Amino acid sequence: MHIILMGPPGAGKGTQAALLAEQEQIPHISTGDIFRANMGQGTPLGKLAKQYVDAGKFVPDDVTNAMVKDRLAQDDCKKGFILDGYPRTADQAQALAGMLADLSLSLDGVVKIDVPDPLLVERAEGRRVCRNCGATYHVKFNPPAVPGVCDKCGGELYQRSDDTAEKLQVRLTEYHQQTAPVLEYYQSKGLVKTVDGDQPMASVTAAIKKAVAKV
Ligand code: ADP
Ligand code: ADP
Ligand code: ZN
Repeated sequence: MHIILMGPPGAGKGTQAALLAEQEQIPHISTGDIFRANMGQGTPLGKLAKQYVDAGKFVPDDVTNAMVKDRLAQDDCKKGFILDGYPRTADQAQALAGMLADLSLSLDGVVKIDVPDPLLVERAEGRRVCRNCGATYHVKFNPPAVPGVCDKCGGELYQRSDDTAEKLQVRLTEYHQQTAPVLEYYQSKGLVKTVDGDQPMASVTAAIKKAVAKV
């Protein structure tokens, strides 16, 4: 399974990518997770990304593309991958096409997870992320057994600084302006499958698997 998950911030890309990665035993490549891990460790990449991520703006394409190129070149991507949150701009989509051609890899599908904008505020505000392993929870829709503690690793859960109603609006504007051309590009190639993201998590997973299953 070589797929891209697309959708607005809070649509459930990360949640679904983690579930599919575990079930299919393939890597989950989230540009947002890689930026946050680097920010947490204070690396040069993290310091550069932080000013953009905290503002709700996209990190520049050259930085993001180079990071994904490194990751896709690793051996574990040969058997499959789930790209979560990349590509998000037309430039990134072009760059990805070049990377895949160089690696002799092809895409099975681009899954667009649809969730109406008004539902995204509650999803983002209630999101909690593990500082240690990056696992995602929701205070209401997917709570951990012990509040504030990761079920998987016992790490501390925190609220992302960009998960406020105000920052979400900036991110949604970025999404609608910059990511719409990416969807059009993949639509022209007949790769886009749309899945309803406003249903229980397991139902969304089943719908994604069905959408990308080879006939
Ligand atoms: P994205 O990666 O698209 O930004 P996430 O997967 O992090 O989205 O999900 C955003 C928030 O919504 C998280 O707190 C997550 O637990 C919750 N969530 C994800 N999928 C669903 C769903 N189908 N129903 C309700 N809440 C969900
Ligand atoms: P969400 O799915 O909720 O939008 P992510 O974790 O995917 O959140 O992304 C968080 C932030 O990381 C984005 O707002 C942006 O600043 C940065 N980012 C993630 N992916 C990209 C990308 N492909 N291009 C540029 N910036 C990105
Ligand atoms: Zn954890």
